[in-house]
Amino acid sequence: MKKIGLIGGMSWESSHVYYEIINKKVKEVLGGFHSSRCIMESVDFAEIERLQHKGDWDTLNKIMVESAKNLENAKADIILLCTNTMHLCSDQIIKNTKIPFLHIATATGNQIRKQNINKVLLLGTKFTMEKDFYKKILSENFNIEVMIPNEKDRNTVHDIIYNELVHGKIELESKIRYRNIINNSIKSGAEGVILGCTEIPLLINDSDVNIPIFDTTKIHAESAVEIALKKSN
Ligand code: GLU
Repeated sequence: MKKIGLIGGMSWESSHVYYEIINKKVKEVLGGFHSSRCIMESVDFAEIERLQHKGDWDTLNKIMVESAKNLENAKADIILLCTNTMHLCSDQIIKNTKIPFLHIATATGNQIRKQNINKVLLLGTKFTMEKDFYKKILSENFNIEVMIPNEKDRNTVHDIIYNELVHGKIELESKIRYRNIINNSIKSGAEGVILGCTEIPLLINDSDVNIPIFDTTKIHAESAVEIALKKSN
């Protein structure tokens, strides 16, 4: 079994879900007493959040590269960055490490394609919804049309992530607001919705909406286990 390296803490509310999914999946596949070989490098989210909103991506790149190198030095075989947003730093991580990096948008794109879905709504932080780094992978590598909410709704989605979900606060009113945003997108042709922030699955699940959801936390964590357990390696 390969050793999975996780860069976590962004936020820890979803990082511990990664740990749980990875171990459950290994046990489901291998049975018995099996559990995952993994290591987590966990950062202080206060510093990350401050730098994100300041727009200091140079410093964020340095922190992410250093975290990835620590995992490499700890003999991880594969790197997972346990947040969608911080994949803005993925190019620098890939450039500065030698072990494979499993991109969360690539793992998600593979799942969307398996369901033959062509048009999806992307929910996440404003960084993920508005910048190109995530949508580009889905459209260029998977030919998936990506919709994002209007500006007012993007603010709502973003604020609920930073004011509630990363603090572990789950509010019914926020669930209703997310559901309304998703339902409006269905009227505009969305065939599926990407929960493109690793904390959104704490608020929204399959039973909340009538179109397929793509839970990036689960997809990313389970794809890593698939790689870790591949026989040929
Ligand atoms: N975990 C979130 C994501 O998947 C947001 C927190 C962060 O900025 O990393 O985008």
